[in-house]
Amino acid sequence: MVFIFGNKGYGDPLGYIVTRCQKCKTDRIFFVHQVREKLTLYFVPTVQYKVKQYMTCLNCNERYEIADGLKPQVAERLMTEEQLKTTLGEIAAQTMLPPLHCSTCASPIDHGMKFCPYCGAKTS
Ligand SMILES: [Zn+2]
Ligand SMILES: [Zn+2]
Repeated sequence: MVFIFGNKGYGDPLGYIVTRCQKCKTDRIFFVHQVREKLTLYFVPTVQYKVKQYMTCLNCNERYEIADGLKPQVAERLMTEEQLKTTLGEIAAQTMLPPLHCSTCASPIDHGMKFCPYCGAKTS
């Protein structure tokens, strides 16, 4: 899996988190980025910036602003692309069916096979 993002409109990329998307109603991968916005004081632009963090669902592209109170929580769960791949690999491995073996000859057999293709024994 490769994620390519241009910087345009995304500000500084921070990383990825896996959390529930309110639109997808399931756990999704989010791209987290922050945008610096210049603070305007009495209509005069100042040198101060307000940093806003956003997370974008990679599935539906919905963008959520991360509330200040949630930022520490998000920072804690933030992953690099490498970490994300490792985590996704673990999730995939956990949800994969355990390999089946023939109880007679111990050959690896596919799920759904009624007879072992190696020795012909009934598999269930
Ligand atoms: Zn979504
Ligand atoms: Zn067998």
